[in-house]
Amino acid sequence: MESSNLIKGTAARGEIRAVSVCSTEIVEEARRRHALSATVTAALGRLLTAGALMGANLKNRETVTLRVFGDGPISGMIVDATASGTVRGYARNPQVDLSPNSQKKLDVGTAVGRQGFIHVTYALELRDPYTGSAPLSSGEIAQDLAHYFRVSEQIPSVVSLGVLVGKEGVLAAGGFMIQLPNTSASEDLVSTLERNVSGLGESSRLIHEGVSPEGILDKALEGLDFHPEERKSIVFACTCNEEKVKGALAALGRRELIEILEKEGQAQAKCEFCAQEYVISRGTLEELLQWSEMS
Ligand SMILES: [Zn+2]
Repeated sequence: MESSNLIKGTAARGEIRAVSVCSTEIVEEARRRHALSATVTAALGRLLTAGALMGANLKNRETVTLRVFGDGPISGMIVDATASGTVRGYARNPQVDLSPNSQKKLDVGTAVGRQGFIHVTYALELRDPYTGSAPLSSGEIAQDLAHYFRVSEQIPSVVSLGVLVGKEGVLAAGGFMIQLPNTSASEDLVSTLERNVSGLGESSRLIHEGVSPEGILDKALEGLDFHPEERKSIVFACTCNEEKVKGALAALGRRELIEILEKEGQAQAKCEFCAQEYVISRGTLEELLQWSEMS
């Protein structure tokens, strides 16, 4: 399987900023870790792809968190991404599976819901964390994100996200985001962009046909003088580890620790974001208890 990679750059003398990603590996990793149904693979896969794209616009240790809460059976999805190219995420109800919609596609819109909100939180380096929100417009994620950019950040954006799921897993996933941060962009530029994008087809199909993220932007920005600026690989990765689990257990306090020791004999924990399971042994729990007696 081709690795997940991303390209970003500018076009039209800096009036356009663009980023595109092949996220097949990331989405397959999420499907496998969380045992996602086909429908949730498509839904969470689109949000993970969006996270990868938005992470590309961050610097150094900054992070972005995308939360989608709709009235559909998935209930909610959370994804976060870092500037260094890591993405992780989960869905509240990972096994929701619906029959295909009228276009014979996985019915992401119904599974997510059409009533609800998308929240975007930036943890930036030199500013306080900032959260912007917008109502969902379709539950299909790409349209919801474009709507969010327009109403909350006032940035006209084209967002395309796609996941192609086969019987054995993810066949292809990817997408692109093209933004016009200067609202003074000429009508010519906008109409060229609209014409290119409408003739492009679905991102997941293009990636399945072997078109690279750069190839996708070359087509989407044809005639607009695209300049690639950065390429990097993207991985599904989490920040959890055993030390953090032990810290969380220690923070429960003496009484809780004694209760766990007496009732369970060991502690089990599962990371929501990556589904990694941790088993903390009796010996380690006793150490934590001793430590809590000393402090
Ligand atoms: Zn984790």
